[in-house]
Amino acid sequence: MKALTLNAEFAPKADHVLSQRELDTHKVKNGFMVWKNPSIELAEIADPELQPNEVRLEVAAVGICGSDMHMYESGSDGYMIYPSLVKTPNILGHEFAGKVVEVGSAVRDLELGDLVAVEEVQWCGECTACRRGFLNHCDNTEELGFTIPGAMAEYISVKAKYCWKLDELANKFGDEEALLMGALVEPTGVAYHGMFNRLTTWKPGNNVVIFGAGPIGLAATALAVAGGGGEVIVFDPSESRRAMAETMGASAVVDPTALDGFSLDDIVMQLTYGRGTDTVVECAGVADRTIQLLDQSLAVNASVIDIGMGGKRPELPTVTYKTKGVQLAGSLGHVGCGTFQNVIRLMAAGRIDMRKMVSDRLPLTDAIAAFKRLESREDSKIILHPNR
Ligand SMILES: [Zn+2]
Ligand SMILES: [Zn+2]
Repeated sequence: MKALTLNAEFAPKADHVLSQRELDTHKVKNGFMVWKNPSIELAEIADPELQPNEVRLEVAAVGICGSDMHMYESGSDGYMIYPSLVKTPNILGHEFAGKVVEVGSAVRDLELGDLVAVEEVQWCGECTACRRGFLNHCDNTEELGFTIPGAMAEYISVKAKYCWKLDELANKFGDEEALLMGALVEPTGVAYHGMFNRLTTWKPGNNVVIFGAGPIGLAATALAVAGGGGEVIVFDPSESRRAMAETMGASAVVDPTALDGFSLDDIVMQLTYGRGTDTVVECAGVADRTIQLLDQSLAVNASVIDIGMGGKRPELPTVTYKTKGVQLAGSLGHVGCGTFQNVIRLMAAGRIDMRKMVSDRLPLTDAIAAFKRLESREDSKIILHPNR
């Protein structure tokens, strides 16, 4: 089958110490410290095997994510930009949906022809973190498209326990649209997990500030609107991304690089009639330039949810956090608590339509050109169709 593979040289930086496990498996926790000269290639490889607890999917749609770009791109030192857990060579692709074309002998709840979206975080269910219910923080996590073969391929075999059926979507929109929407569940789930699972402070009517209008920020915007947000204010320096945030229903979009001498606090106060924001969602990965700067504009009992990866360590106004009872939560991943199920239902009910951020749909054979095009970050989301 055809597959898009990521290759790189295993070249740990001189001052970087690897664990024995990392040395043995080449699954390294800090990709940018180890992998040099990354490149992608469209390769012809063997079809995946099928274990008894797995289903084989014909991949219908797979999104290109910012993380895929960061594995493919390198910095001035030639090292991969992606900072987290990654192994090469590997097949990319973790935001996807497909059709079940083969069912392992031990699978109970899936049948031939089922349409499913698949969790990227491959939690074990047995470690202490999993047993406490924190699947995104699994000690033995494998990540589909990062440490094990992903979905930028004609076929993929995945454990049935990571699959969520798309029945509601197929019934309302037909199979093809259901599979396209299914590929958008994973990134939407990342925003959902931060906003509704990590803290339970969400209320309809909350004023919301969202930093970053990439796919996660756009999902946060759509979810804030669907969840009955009051003022939904989105900050992003890119004009095209701000326009997309408006399309998702933001009540105000602001270029943080052109504040006319006002502070972020000033702008948020102006846009919230002096009442401040109840919810803050960081999806830009620059906490030192976003949540660090919100102080007076945090309402009493405000929640700050930090999702975006990267940036410098922020200095936070912790006195304000105390005097106003502000809560801060980091958020990672998208599994557990039925997140996929609820995102699928929100899409099926027509309350969010993440298809609006899809700027192009291409066959897998155009994948390399699509990655090149995304270097400019003008597109919000390109979807690949491996079986077209
Ligand atoms: Zn992703
Ligand atoms: Zn686990």
